[in-house]
Amino acid sequence: MPDARDLLPSIFGFDAFRPGQEEIVDAVVAGRDVLAIMPTGGGKSLCFQLPALVRDGLTVVISPLIALMRDQVRALQEAGVNAGALTSGNTEEETETVWQAIEDGSLKLLYIAPERLASGGTERMLKRANCTLIAVDEAHCVSQWGHDFRPDYLRIGALRQTLGVPLAAFTATADAETRAEIASRLFADEPQVFLHGFDRPNITLTFQPKDGPRRQILSFAAARKGQSGIVYCGTRSKTEGIARALRDDGHAACHYHAGMDADDRRDVERRFQQEDGLIVVATVAFGMGIDKPDIRWVAHADLPKSIESYYQEIGRAGRDGAPADTLTLFGADDIRYRRQQIDEGLAPPEMRAADHTRLNALLGLAEAQICRRVTLLGYFGETPAPCGNCDLCEKPPELFDATTEVRKALSAMLRTDERFGTGHLVDVLTGTETDKTRRFGHDSLPTWGAGRDTPKPQWQAIFRQMMGLDLVRPDGERHGALRMTDPARPILRGEASVTLRKDTITRAERRPAVKQ
Ligand code: ADP
Ligand code: ZN
Repeated sequence: MPDARDLLPSIFGFDAFRPGQEEIVDAVVAGRDVLAIMPTGGGKSLCFQLPALVRDGLTVVISPLIALMRDQVRALQEAGVNAGALTSGNTEEETETVWQAIEDGSLKLLYIAPERLASGGTERMLKRANCTLIAVDEAHCVSQWGHDFRPDYLRIGALRQTLGVPLAAFTATADAETRAEIASRLFADEPQVFLHGFDRPNITLTFQPKDGPRRQILSFAAARKGQSGIVYCGTRSKTEGIARALRDDGHAACHYHAGMDADDRRDVERRFQQEDGLIVVATVAFGMGIDKPDIRWVAHADLPKSIESYYQEIGRAGRDGAPADTLTLFGADDIRYRRQQIDEGLAPPEMRAADHTRLNALLGLAEAQICRRVTLLGYFGETPAPCGNCDLCEKPPELFDATTEVRKALSAMLRTDERFGTGHLVDVLTGTETDKTRRFGHDSLPTWGAGRDTPKPQWQAIFRQMMGLDLVRPDGERHGALRMTDPARPILRGEASVTLRKDTITRAERRPAVKQ
């Protein structure tokens, strides 16, 4: 049986599960009846697509949304998965191909519209096709009291019974009453219910710009002496250095990365599980399968890869529900490194663009102006109240009106046809002559030197925050080039203003003086 954790990156191109996905995938793979309620955009489809690939036989997916089905089938096929749909929108040829794949037993996922259930042939066909799992999308359509009621959904219960296979139902909207109704109509016994809000209120969220990162990690650990914790690092060599420094400081600490031999790794895993107060300094290789409820803190010595990775990694703290702390460090070098990793990866262009977006979301969180939890959960589709348990709630950052600066930056981008990255744009704004500015004749632009009053590192920080606010976005096609987004247009036209965080900008001004 292929492993779900291997297929996640190789087929779907994701580096981590989103909140809740892992538990649901495990339950579905194990063949349990599942009812999962996840916010829109939370990533429900992965929760049946991935198990379908892990399990033997065919998974039938019932969905009322033809356009969505076709999108999903196309994406799966592009990823090399044998998936098909039987919908009214099919060409004869498409239908023929699907039937052929059913006949020869190669089809893994078959999407059908609920209307199909009305014909007796469907049941027979699914039986013959070795259907071993039913997935129901938009499961609330089975509720007669809901506004999306689909009478054909009522046939699903009977189909499950005839096929005698497990069923996994998904929906974004279900109050307690609707949940009970879904459960009673689709399942014979109580399904395992997953109701995931994404919030982990016992975890404190803190970010700090790097300012002597090793010292920052040591002082965070010193305030939590004797507690179990994880320090995540971006590189293998760094894990060893920080573990040593922690030991020198009197902590019990060891390092962990995928380059160590299997015995040594198992040894660290065992010690971490059994000992109290051990710190493991690790790459992201550490964590999969670690099931220790009383991890009291997680620190990131380097910025994670994406907002999903961040959530998953900090989520290893405080599984027991008791208070747990997290600290994430970030710096300009991290941002460069992560971008480069994406650009130099082998993923196709659309996927690279999506990776940049996920990284941008994390940068937005790092330089957020309001409650971290509001920003983080907002990304996952929730709208909580400010939490009182993050560094920004504790101490709101000072903001300033940056409309003029942002307009200059946008104008420099447009005047250079949105074809350049931050470094070159800052050169244009500050009027710094280079080969490139000369070659493109940018020293004759009206914006040449328009931002001379602001030092370069501050401009870098302004671009970073603009990226965090999604006013500019890296162009997935052109290495490093920035493009303007729609929300930036009113600012450029002078119809909207924009505030930025003052602290990260004034700190940037200091940075050149700080030798690290
Ligand atoms: P839903 O059906 O819950 O509204 P989807 O299954 O369509 O959500 O997923 C929403 C988006 O999230 C999609 O663009 C999908 O590619 C992305 N996504 C899903 N799971 C992950 C993951 N583990 N990491 C990153 N992106 C993900
Ligand atoms: Zn908060």
